[in-house]
Order: sequence, then C-alpha cells, then structure tokens
Amino acid sequence: MSDSSLHPDRSESPAGLYVHIPFCVAKCGYCSFASYPCGGAPPAGYLDAVRQEAETLARHPLVRGRAFATLFVGGGTPTIYGGEELAGMIRHCRGLFDLAPDAEVTVEANPNTVDEAKLADLRRAGVNRLSIGVQAFSDRLLGQIERRHTVAQALAAVRAARAAGFANVNLDLIYGLPTQGIDDWRETLAQALDLSPEHLALYALSVEEGTPFSRREARGELALPDEETLLAMEESAYLALAGAGYERYEISNFARSGLRSRHNGNYWRNGAYLGLGAAAVSCLDHLRFRAVAEPDRFAALVAEGRQPWLDLEGLSPAAAFRETVIMGLRLLAGIAVDELEARFGVTPQAYYGSVLDRLMDQGLVAITDGRLYLTPRALPVANQVLAELV
Ligand code: SF4
Repeated sequence: MSDSSLHPDRSESPAGLYVHIPFCVAKCGYCSFASYPCGGAPPAGYLDAVRQEAETLARHPLVRGRAFATLFVGGGTPTIYGGEELAGMIRHCRGLFDLAPDAEVTVEANPNTVDEAKLADLRRAGVNRLSIGVQAFSDRLLGQIERRHTVAQALAAVRAARAAGFANVNLDLIYGLPTQGIDDWRETLAQALDLSPEHLALYALSVEEGTPFSRREARGELALPDEETLLAMEESAYLALAGAGYERYEISNFARSGLRSRHNGNYWRNGAYLGLGAAAVSCLDHLRFRAVAEPDRFAALVAEGRQPWLDLEGLSPAAAFRETVIMGLRLLAGIAVDELEARFGVTPQAYYGSVLDRLMDQGLVAITDGRLYLTPRALPVANQVLAELV
C-alpha cells in the first residue's frame, strides 16, 4: 500500500486546550518533564505571558472559530501559583476561546501546594476536575523518589478537594519504585481506593536519561523491583480496581462509569489540540508545533510579539494515520476500522498488510465488531507491540 493513497484526516471534533505551568517546588529524582524548581515562588510574569500568548493565538487563523471541549492546566505543578492567579488565567482563557459550557476543566495539583481556599478559587473559575499527583501512600517511598510531600498532605489534599466541591478527582500513582515491594503497592492501592477517587492513573516508573535516577541506576544505586514483581504489581492493581468498580479503559487509566478523562481521550483519538505556555505542543490541521521549553525565553518571545514556537512540523496523512492507530490502540476498546477509513481513506488491514496479519496470528492484536484492539495478552507488552506499527 503506498502512502500517497491516503487522504488528509477529515475528522472535525472539538479540540482540546492545554496550558503548561513549568514550575515545581523542587525537582523529583525521576522527573524528565519540562519543569523547573522554584521553591514556593513561581515567576509572577509567566502567567502574564501565557495570557498574552492566549490573546495572540485566539486570533490566529488556525484557532479562530475553533470549538474546544476541554481545558487542562498541567505541569509542572500548576497549583504552585495562588488560587486567584490561576483562576484569573483560566477565566481569561475561557473568555478568549470557544470553550463548551459543559467543558471538562482539569487542573493538576501536588498535595503540598493546595488547601481548601485555593481549590475553592479554582471551582469558582469553572474547574470541575482535579488531578492530584499522589504517587505513593508511603512516606518512605515518597522520600525514595524525592517527592516533597507526605502521605498526610495527600490525604489532606483529597479532603480539601471534596470540601471545595470537586466531584471528579483523579489520583496519579506510580509503581515499580526503588525498594517498593508488592505489599507496599497493595497498601498504596488500598489507601487510594479508600478515598474513592473517580479516576486513577497508574504508571510504571520509567528511568529516563538525564535524570538523577538514571545516574543512580548507572552507579547501581537504584534498587528497582524485578520484572516478575512489576507484573505482580500490575496484576494486583487490575484485580483491586476491577473489584472496586473501576473500568480500565486505557492502558494506564481507570475510571468510574462516565468519568473517563475527556481531555486525554482527545489525545488518544489523535484529535486537534492547542497548547499554551512554555514547552506546550499543539497539533492543528496536521501542523504540529512546540513552544520553547525555557520559561524566561518563552516570556521574552511573547513580550516581543513573536511566536514562541521552536519548530513547525507538517504531518503527512500517512504519519497522521499511523499516530491515530497507535494512540487509539492505547484504549482498551481500540479504534473503529470504519472511522479510520472515513478519516484517512484506508483501513489498517490495507495499510499495514503482513505486519498486522502477523500480530493478529500471534494473538496480540484482533478485530472484533469492526474494532481493532490490543488483546489482553498484548497489554503487558503494549509498547513493543505498538512499536511495530509506528
Ligand atoms: S512534581 Fe511532577 S513535574 Fe514536578 S518535578 Fe516532580 S514529577 Fe516533575
């Protein structure tokens, strides 16, 4: 199948809006995200730069007239800013962009940066979903990964969220931490479930190049659980969460009925999104662009009236098709073959040919009722399977 037989993506669903806040109290040992440690004092001018960039982009031909279904303020640690400052920036964005009245509006938070008053400010600005980076319910393990908060602060953050009126709370947890055993992980899961969050995201620790953890690993100082323990951790999580009524709808994400992440759902469908702020990525009309990562440089470029974009990449229909397949396969329900064909003019069977046949023969990928999906057997090795379809 030749790539030239694909046509451009014809989907026109509402886009997602993302705002990146690249500051944290301190840098965690494993973190490879675009975030800068700043103690408790993030630069006041950064949010002004984001507001200014929002004003410019709202008038941009790629954005003007576009509908947005979700807003996600992520980081870093957005809640390192004061409640009124963040709420003001969110209101500003709501005023500039065509955000649906029932939009999902999420803010990421770390437990040591929230209290009920700040969260109430966010609720008043229309934030209706809070995603809290808890990671582990063990002060010993939080210390191991150099998080700056405690279990008590995580519990207080969830209580504060409920008191402020949040009815949709996600907890991020990480497994496979140094010195973590299966019983530690079961304890973290049990404490998380006791809090009845609407959504849980479970990630395996990944040691990324350039982080303090990769240097510790190279020196043999990182006592990570072995492969067998990791698999047992995954298995125990899936059982515990299914038993508590959560649906595993994406490789790492679990939700109560009707409470899947809509913002991330748009990424998994490879929909359009606009990113504001340093290091934020946008993908609109098959053009992908990324802002400079350094907040100072970002603010300086915006102040000069220049676009803070680092690169602008045009996605070919074939590249967009492959990305749509790979992202869609992260969802346990997979992706509808006829939707793919409507968007790109080709089916995965025709595009991938013998590669897909082999994965199907191996029982890793299947098509049932018109949907292409990863089989349960493929889920523990999902990254390797998806790499075959890149
Ligand atoms: S809180 Fe999150 S973004 Fe900030 S340093 Fe830690 S892992 Fe990175």
